[in-house]
Amino acid sequence: MDIHSTKTYWPIKNSFDKSYASLDTTITSEILIIGGGITGALIAYKLISEGKEVTLVDKRDICNGSTAASTAMLQYEIDIPLHQLIEQRGLTCAVSSYKSCEKAIFELEKIVKTIKSDCQFELKKSVYFTSSKKDIDFLQKEYEARKEHGFSVKWLEKEELKNLGLTALAAIESESAAVLDPYRFAIDLLNYCHKKGLKIFDRTNIVKIKNNKEQFILQTDKDFSIHAKDVIHCTGYESTENLSQKVVDLKSTYAIISEALPETVKAFKNHIYWDTSSPYFYFRATKDGRILMGGGDQDFKNAKKRDVLLSRKEKFLIKNFKKCFPDINFKLDYSWAGTFGETKDGLPYFGKPDGYKNEHYILGFGGNGITFSVLGMDVVLDSLNNDPNPFLEYYKFDR
Ligand SMILES: Cc1cc2nc3c(=O)[nH]c(=O)nc-3n(C[C@H](O)[C@H](O)[C@H](O)COP(=O)(O)OP(=O)(O)OC[C@H]3O[C@@H](n4cnc5c(N)ncnc54)[C@H](O)[C@@H]3O)c2cc1C
Repeated sequence: MDIHSTKTYWPIKNSFDKSYASLDTTITSEILIIGGGITGALIAYKLISEGKEVTLVDKRDICNGSTAASTAMLQYEIDIPLHQLIEQRGLTCAVSSYKSCEKAIFELEKIVKTIKSDCQFELKKSVYFTSSKKDIDFLQKEYEARKEHGFSVKWLEKEELKNLGLTALAAIESESAAVLDPYRFAIDLLNYCHKKGLKIFDRTNIVKIKNNKEQFILQTDKDFSIHAKDVIHCTGYESTENLSQKVVDLKSTYAIISEALPETVKAFKNHIYWDTSSPYFYFRATKDGRILMGGGDQDFKNAKKRDVLLSRKEKFLIKNFKKCFPDINFKLDYSWAGTFGETKDGLPYFGKPDGYKNEHYILGFGGNGITFSVLGMDVVLDSLNNDPNPFLEYYKFDR
């Protein structure tokens, strides 16, 4: 018997500790951020810390876009391996991107401490492994490139991995990585910024943007408007709906989470994992002892087609989990599907597209979305002030 429909108010209410009113008047703000996910929250934090007058809107309840679906492995390892990125984008861009993502992990740790977020941030080591003989040379090449450019990495052989609990042929172990609860963190960060003066409006959909010479006039779905000098789009994958240029290939992706294990298993005590297959699988634990795994990506057609595959993808992911960690009894508790995007070089898009004036984008596409959003904090002021910044150059739309 179904005694009620899937979602009732009380369990949802108890998972929200803060809700913001929707906009029901016309307002003016120096800067408007569209998008209240982890990117919008980080950008707001940066701007509020700089004493700017900022308003943030989200068409949903805050943090209910991709941020709520994320598995939140924080890595400096970009989807395109360092040695390949050097070939694709040149030495300076590739190495600076890897180095900045590494720095971003520790920057996030600092923010978590400053705002006293209960988001279960934990530093981890990352293991990039292969189960395929043909990928060993490739992995070795990547190991050499990382070592040459000063990353703290260790080569692990089959036996060492077995000791850890992972069945694989070889791996690179990296010192710097982390995990957190992205939803808790973004909510806490927005609440912190709100207390410092950020104006937040939930359920406020921007449907039209007009630009006269002085300012933008942004119209909401309920026919109110916001007047702003600068607009920053932190709208994640949905930005593809209104960007004139195609910069990302959307993928359907899948995540499964186990029941809490009776005790922390050795493999997941200090490590997170991803592998060299394409699309890759990735694994982490949560603080309450669950295993979280993602993968099974394929081209995104629409949400209905993505979601209908969920039960098939659950089986596929569990089968692959068992191959990698045969000693862990993964009892499935929950699963979900999400949309994410790949760019041609695994790097994000920052700044103003050609022909856009005072309209800025911080789009942390790719598997490193969260670390890229932290990098966005370092460029946003320069984008607003029209000042040069190497990352605005590396990650520009027209590249
Ligand atoms: C299953 C999955 C696993 C992932 N795993 C990882 C991982 O391990 N590590 C990692 O770094 N990244 C990961 N990512 C990517 C990461 O989650 C994203 O990069 C990140 O959440 C993006 O945050 P965001 O704030 O940019 O986007 P979102 O969280 O989607 O926020 C954008 C917000 O903009 C709002 N919005 C859009 N249009 C409008 C409008 N017109 N008006 C008002 N509001 C609007 C939306 O409602 C939304 O809340 C994963 C993603 C998925 C789906």
